Amino acid sequence: MGIEKYTSTICPKIEEKLEVNKARDCFAHFAGEFKFEVDCHDQTYMVDLKAMTCGCRMWDLIGIPCMHAVSAITLNKQKPDEYIHPCYTRDTYLNVYKYMINPIPGKHDWVETSTDPIQPPVMSWEGRNCMWLEEKVQVLLLVGEEEEEGAGEVEGEGDGSHQGQPEVMVL
Ligand SMILES: [Zn+2]
Repeated sequence: MGIEKYTSTICPKIEEKLEVNKARDCFAHFAGEFKFEVDCHDQTYMVDLKAMTCGCRMWDLIGIPCMHAVSAITLNKQKPDEYIHPCYTRDTYLNVYKYMINPIPGKHDWVETSTDPIQPPVMSWEGRNCMWLEEKVQVLLLVGEEEEEGAGEVEGEGDGSHQGQPEVMVL
């Protein structure tokens, strides 16, 4: 097991991301209590180390200190590793994967039973959000309208059976 030999407190991929954030050119200014103003590439962000937030919202979103936060943490004479979300630590990783997933035999070893096979539940579209289906129907309608317009340009073609109604394919 690779991770068990790993000595850092945070997972390797996360540590790589943190190293990238450490390498950025940001300049933090202490504002008071746990708050900092960080200048970075012509932008200014507010970092709050107590709330673990940054104006760019990246730290809030993914739990890894962003380049602005890393700058503020460094100015505060602390390590960015201390401000990483606990879900990224080596201990959490080991805790999550400590349980064994039992091996499952192949179909040839399955035991036959006298009961009927279990069927999947019957799904109903009633009351569901069908935005993707509505969007797909709209696209098909638009394609149908374009085809109708294109057909109208060439005189004498087709039998005129569509009569302005685009075809809609029901999925
Ligand atoms: Zn930030």
